[in-house]
Amino acid sequence: APYQHADVHELLDSTLLMLSGKIGRRIDVVKEYDRTLPRIPAYPAELNQVWTNLIDNAVAAMDSTGGDGTLTVRTALENDRLLVEFRDTGPGVPPEIRGRIFDPFFTTKPVGEGTGLGLDISWRIVVNKHHGTLQVESVPGDTRFQVLLPLAASDD
Ligand code: ADP
Ligand code: MG
Repeated sequence: APYQHADVHELLDSTLLMLSGKIGRRIDVVKEYDRTLPRIPAYPAELNQVWTNLIDNAVAAMDSTGGDGTLTVRTALENDRLLVEFRDTGPGVPPEIRGRIFDPFFTTKPVGEGTGLGLDISWRIVVNKHHGTLQVESVPGDTRFQVLLPLAASDD
């Protein structure tokens, strides 16, 4: 895929639109975009895959406790990198599994519902392909998956 200067907000909006059926009416979507952020070098289709995986997990988490909730998508400049944060009001990631959720095939979902590959694939796209980081902070009712992406291309 071409490595182009991508507008993350455009990518986020198109993914949110694609997933609007799955997100449904019971989940409020709040966009907290810093519109002054620059375009960044990125593989757009791959980043859309990351957004899709993280939103899918957030929606599933909120569905597991009745289906109501708020998904907040926030962008910001943080330490010279572009932060994209997905925050949900679901039950959270229990501390005892936090070290394993990025492992391939790790899932807590019933057979047929989860492959356990979403976070593994997202990790590889963010860390290996974009030289970014992917981290999670979670307490019940407030879970944040944070993607940090470089503003400029590296040499390789
Ligand atoms: P899958 O969605 O197929 O289970 P993932 O790699 O996307 O695989 O996620 C792995 C596991 O991480 C999930 O099964 C779930 O236990 C946990 N997880 C991921 N995102 C969230 C979230 N937003 N809230 C709570 N748990 C989560
Ligand atoms: Mg998933």
